[in-house]
Amino acid sequence: MTDTNIGQVSVLGAGNMGHGITEVAAIAGYDVTMRDVEEDLVADGYEDIKWSLEKLAEKDHLDESVDEVLGRIDTAVELEPAVADADLVIEAAPERMDLKKDIFGDLDAFAPDDALLASNTSSLSITEMATATSRPEDVVGMHFFNPPVKMNLVEVIYGEETSDETAEAAYEFVESLDKTPIYVRKDVHGFVVNTVLGPFIDEPAWMVSNEEATIREADAAMVHRRGYPMGPFELVDLSGIDVGYHVRTEAGRPIPPIMKEKVEADELGRKTGRGYYDYENGDGVDYEPSDGENFDTLRVEARMVNEAARLVGDDVATPEEIDTGVRLGLGFPEGICRRGDEIGLDVVLDKLRSLHEKTEQDRFEPDDYLVELVEQGRTGEDAGAGFHDYGSDGDAGPGEYRLLNYELSENGLLEVELDRPERMNALSMSLLGEIDALLSSVNSDDVRCVTFEGAGDRAFSAGADIGGFADLTPTDAMDVTPAFETVNDFERPTIAKIDGYCLGAGLELALACDLRVATANAKFGSPEIGLGLIPGGGGTQRLLRVLGETRAKELVFRGNRIDAERAEEWGLINRAVPAKEFDDTVSDFVDDIVEGPPIGLKVAKKVLNQGADASLEAALTMESQGFGLLMGTEDVREGTTAFRDDRDPEFRGE
Ligand code: NAD
Repeated sequence: MTDTNIGQVSVLGAGNMGHGITEVAAIAGYDVTMRDVEEDLVADGYEDIKWSLEKLAEKDHLDESVDEVLGRIDTAVELEPAVADADLVIEAAPERMDLKKDIFGDLDAFAPDDALLASNTSSLSITEMATATSRPEDVVGMHFFNPPVKMNLVEVIYGEETSDETAEAAYEFVESLDKTPIYVRKDVHGFVVNTVLGPFIDEPAWMVSNEEATIREADAAMVHRRGYPMGPFELVDLSGIDVGYHVRTEAGRPIPPIMKEKVEADELGRKTGRGYYDYENGDGVDYEPSDGENFDTLRVEARMVNEAARLVGDDVATPEEIDTGVRLGLGFPEGICRRGDEIGLDVVLDKLRSLHEKTEQDRFEPDDYLVELVEQGRTGEDAGAGFHDYGSDGDAGPGEYRLLNYELSENGLLEVELDRPERMNALSMSLLGEIDALLSSVNSDDVRCVTFEGAGDRAFSAGADIGGFADLTPTDAMDVTPAFETVNDFERPTIAKIDGYCLGAGLELALACDLRVATANAKFGSPEIGLGLIPGGGGTQRLLRVLGETRAKELVFRGNRIDAERAEEWGLINRAVPAKEFDDTVSDFVDDIVEGPPIGLKVAKKVLNQGADASLEAALTMESQGFGLLMGTEDVREGTTAFRDDRDPEFRGE
C-alpha cells in the first residue's frame, strides 16, 4: 500500500505524540507497533487513536473503516519484540537526553541492522542521541508537530553523522504520510521552526519585563496588525510557560524576567488556570484589536528575520524551507523570509543595528548573512531580490505565485490550488490578486476547463483573511473584488472542487465558478453578517441568482451554515458525493468539458451568464446570435459529422 521501502514501523511512546504518529502511519498503510512502558499507558494511547479515527470517519476523512486502520496497529510493553522487525523506529518518549540515550542504546542492540532510527524530539541534539549507538549514520530527527493528525509539517533533521540515504528515506516516509517534510541540514538547537518562533515569544516578553509594552498590546498587535494566528503570550499560555522556560534554560539562553516570575509563581498558563492571562477568575484572553496600536512589531519581526538569515547563512535550511516550515508548523500568515523581503531587509538591518547600539544586547546583533544580502542590494521585494527572487517589477513574476499552485495539462485542464492550508485557504488580498493575475495572464486558447480547490483537507476556503483586510480604508475595499469577476468572466467553464469549509469569500469564489462539486462533509455559509458586514465579492447577487430570494436571504441574514446535502437540495452545488467518489465525480465533469467544443462552451457560458440578467427578449436574441455564430464553425461540422459516423468528435476550437 505504501511506496517506500518501509513496511513495519515501531513507535516508542504512546503519549501525545506517540499515539498521533502511530495513527498517521497506520492511516497511510503501515503496520505499526506502539510501545510504552506500562500496559495502561499503551491502552490509553490506543483508545486515543480509536477516538480520533472515529472522528475522522464521521467527517468522511478516512478511506477505510476505523477497524481496518486499527487492524494495522499492534501494541507492546516489551521493547525487544516491539522493534525486532522494524524498518523504522520513531522514538516519542519524554524530552530527557538521558532517557533518549538509553532508548537509542537499546535500539542499537535490538533493532535490525538496516532499520532507520528516528527521534521526535523537539529540542534535543540528534547528534548526541546518536552517540548511544554504533550506527549514528542511521539516526535522524523526525519532528512531528502537535497534533500529528492535523499538522502537516515534519522537520527531518540531520545529526552530524546522519547519512544522506537515511535522511532521504525519512523524507520519503514523511511524504508517504501525505505530510510535508522540510530538511534541517544541521543539528541546531530549535531546528528551523522553533528557532524562528523563539524571538516571537522572547522579544515581547523582554519588552513587557522592561515595561516597554504590555501583554495585551503585544498580543493585539501581532494578531490584528500583523496577522499571526495568536499573540505570543496567548500562545505560551496554551503550550505552558514552563515548557519554553525549560528549553531556554537547557540551551543556556537568557530568560526574560517575566517568564521566570510566572514559572516561580507556578502560573504556567491555561493548565494551571492562570498564566499571562487569568482563566479562573478573569476573562482569559481579553485583548481588543485597538490595544495593539502602539506596539513595536518591527522589533519582534526583525529578530525573527535575523534568525532566518542565520539559518540560511549557516546552510541549515533554504528560505523556501523556512517559509514552508513556519507557515505549516506555526500557522504564520506568510513565510518569515517572505515577510522580511516585504518589510525590506535594509529596514530590518537598521532596526537591529539601532537596538544593538542602544541596548548592547547580543540578541540584536545582525547576522552576517543579513548584512551580506543588504550589501549586495538584495533588500527584498522592492529591489527585485532578497531572500527570494522577484520579477523585475517586484511582483511574484509571471507564472510564479506564492499562495497558489497551478498546473496546465496538455488536454487544456487548468488546475488551481489555493495554497494556504494553515489558514484554511483564507482569501487574503494577495491570494485574490494572484487568482486575478493567473486567470488574466493565461492564454485562454490553451485552456478548456479550470478547477479550483483548496490545499489540505479542511477547507476549500474558510473565508476572507480578516487580518489582511483590517487595514483597508473603505475606498480600498471597493476595489478588492476583481478576482471574483475575473473568475466569473473567464471564457472557459470553471469548476469549484469543494472539500470541507466553503464560507464567506470562499463561497463567493465558488459562486463565481460555473459549477460546484462537493464532498458530503462540505459546509457552506455566508457568515459576514456576524461581523456587521455583507458579502462583498458578489455573494449577495450571485446567491440571489443561484438560490432565489428566499434561500439567499436566509443565508445572508442568518449567517448560518448549511451542509452539503441541503446545499445540493437547494441547487447551491451540482453534486454532493462521499469523499471516496469525489475525484472521480469531478473527473467526469472535467472530461465532458475538456472534450467538448471550446467555442460552443464559450458561447454557452456567455449566453447563460448574460442572459440571466437580461429581459427574455434580449436573452433570446443573444442566444440566436450565438447559435448563428456557432453554425459557421469547424467544430459544428466535426460534431455533426462524428454524430453521423457514430464516433466521438474531436473538437479543435475552430
Ligand atoms: P508524553 O509525556 O505525552 O508521552 C511520552 C510517553 O513516553 C509517555 O507515555 C511515557 O510513559 C512514554 N515512555 C517513557 N519512557 C519510554 C520508553 N523507554 N519507551 C517508550 N515509551 C516511553 O510526551 P509527548 O508530548 O508525546 O512528547 C514526546 C516527545 O515528542 C518528546 O521528545 C517531545 O519533545 C516531542 N514533541 C512533543 C510535542 C508536543 O507538543 N507535545 C511536539 C513535538 C515533539
